[in-house]
Amino acid sequence: MMFDTVIVVDWSGGNDRGPTPRADAIWACVARRGVAEAPVYLRNRQMAEGWIGDTVLAERAAGRRVMVGFDFPFGYPQGFARAAAGTDDPLALWDWVAERIEDAPKGNNRFDVAGAINLSLGGKGPFWGNGLKRDVDGLPRTKAGYANPFAERRRAEVLAKGAFSVWQLSGAGSVGSQALMGLPVLARLRRRFEDDLAVWPFQPLDAGIALVEVWPSLIAPEIAARTQPDEIKDAAQVRVLAQVLSALKADRLTAMLADGDAAEGWILGLGHEDALRGALRVDAPQPPPLSNDCFALPPGVNWTPVDAALALLQERLTPVAQVETVAVQHALGRVLSAPVTAQRSNPPRPNTAVDGYGFAGGRAAGVHVLPLVAGRAAAGGDFDGAVPAGHAVRVLTGAALPAGVDTVVLQEDVTVDGRRIAFNGPVKAGANSRRAGEDVAAGDEVLPQGRRLTPADLALLAAVGVGAVPVFAPLRVGVLSTGDELAEAGTDAGETQIYDANRPMLLGLLKRLGHQAVDLGRVRDDRAALAAALDGAQVDAILTSGGASAGDEDHVSALLREAGALALWRIAVKPGRPLALGMWKGTPVFGLPGNPVAAMVCTLVFAAPALALLAGSGWQEPQGFTVPAGFEKSKKPGRREYLRARMRDGVAEVFRSEGSGRISGLSWAEGLVELPDGPLVVKRGDPVRFIPWGGFGL
Ligand code: AMP
Ligand code: MG
Repeated sequence: MMFDTVIVVDWSGGNDRGPTPRADAIWACVARRGVAEAPVYLRNRQMAEGWIGDTVLAERAAGRRVMVGFDFPFGYPQGFARAAAGTDDPLALWDWVAERIEDAPKGNNRFDVAGAINLSLGGKGPFWGNGLKRDVDGLPRTKAGYANPFAERRRAEVLAKGAFSVWQLSGAGSVGSQALMGLPVLARLRRRFEDDLAVWPFQPLDAGIALVEVWPSLIAPEIAARTQPDEIKDAAQVRVLAQVLSALKADRLTAMLADGDAAEGWILGLGHEDALRGALRVDAPQPPPLSNDCFALPPGVNWTPVDAALALLQERLTPVAQVETVAVQHALGRVLSAPVTAQRSNPPRPNTAVDGYGFAGGRAAGVHVLPLVAGRAAAGGDFDGAVPAGHAVRVLTGAALPAGVDTVVLQEDVTVDGRRIAFNGPVKAGANSRRAGEDVAAGDEVLPQGRRLTPADLALLAAVGVGAVPVFAPLRVGVLSTGDELAEAGTDAGETQIYDANRPMLLGLLKRLGHQAVDLGRVRDDRAALAAALDGAQVDAILTSGGASAGDEDHVSALLREAGALALWRIAVKPGRPLALGMWKGTPVFGLPGNPVAAMVCTLVFAAPALALLAGSGWQEPQGFTVPAGFEKSKKPGRREYLRARMRDGVAEVFRSEGSGRISGLSWAEGLVELPDGPLVVKRGDPVRFIPWGGFGL
């Protein structure tokens, strides 16, 4: 590691964004060795400048080398510095800009400065995009009449697809204003840290601090895949990029730093995107690919019982996700790729569970009077010295027990008289105190591989001194609807059309199951369109609905058959027609029935446990309960049945209709009643198995 700490800053050219964290403000994140801290919200540039300076100073004081990345250009296209400021030195241009820019939380003069530069260069460019209500002399609002004496883009921006020109000062995504408002801040950082700071690629990086230009869009898909559901995009960008840059091996980073344009500046990592992506993974063996025949059924089987189908899935599927390390505060819902052991005991030292008085040993029945020692032991504080035998000390909840104390009496049970306490025995030795490690001992395995982390797990990890955990990358699962009859929700639908109900449902189920749901849209009953949609999917697994049987318009099964990788699973289950399972170019495809009820039941019963295996969380049995039936039913042998059900007044009720197109019943239900494969007559009050949605992992 050439740098111990990486700080990534997402800059902003605008005014103060207020106290509530929001997009388009400044976001920053600190990472060390591949582990990012929580992103920091900085509402304006003045606060950002202070925070960056202080943070860098603290890192240097701790003896750490720091790389600070900013997401705006450090230079301008060739020739601009000389024409505008009379220098070829890009760092002298920083100072020149800093002398002209005035900046306050509520307003700044960036458009006037740009207009003045334009006027000094003939008045028709290079800057454009006045974002103010008033006109600015020399600065056009649009490119009408615009003339630019310089290149439109730096060399780096020509290579970086989608990068904006530094001349554009307003409009979503433009960086021109960010550079004008950021370079003065960088110029002041240079002055503050003097010889301990160097700027890439203009100077050799032999100082303790390096300023580099970064661009999160180099790894946009990876960032999108790791953005938490309620996380602000800018926060995710700095978090993931800081993680990546701090995880880079020295030789990789050296190769990136060897690039650059000493006049215009450069984007760190441009052209090295594979290495950036690679740094998201830790050095773990890559998961083996699934075999093409992993869904093959034993020959001659006609109707596969549910348990046999599940046993086949369990045997054939293995984790496909890569492994990465994430900080505990970002690990909610992630799946552990290895067991985690306690780094220290909980509690780390014996402590008191109550406010009271501590002493050594138990006390028999009767009145006890003990002299108090001076001072007190409070949580987080350190009580100096030992408490002599026969003495007591004031202790507050959570305080480590001082030497010579192993027992605590509640303050409510004590009378205090000057420097003595009195209380009635008996008090058991060890009362009201917690032993060191009584909850967890250092070295204990606290969570197993495959655990999907809950809020309580995060508490446990934090308490036992674990700051970061190895996890599988989120499983990306695509959802595709098929059928000529389908129309998009909310649009006008023809008489013969129905709305695509499965897609929002399946996307929602996947999210609840903890996966990254990817919307692959809808395709018509057309084999080429279906093939193109499957080809375009950048996912680990695909759920399709519709077209899974063996009819003329069942293109999902037909296409997988053509590819030589179809297994049409006729599972003895109701509701549910055949499941078309197959591999499409290495990606497992679960071809679900089109009927929404069958699609949901098959997802929960078959796809959910299969996806859990792929995601690394191991085989998950649905968790059900035996409860009295609140209904009557007689069932034929041959198929396992799932009824839409919910618990009311201690009994399982089922939906009034078993029709597999009745979406209202799915919405009514809060789980499923599972009836066994054999024949059965259910009377009211008979025991049946109810599996709430939560029992399927939703
Ligand atoms: P299929 O499996 O394609 O034969 O479709 C079975 C039934 O499910 C038909 O009535 C379809 O119209 C219906 N269906 C298929 N896809 C969807 C969907 N995405 N949303 C709602 N109903 C669907
Ligand atoms: Mg269809």
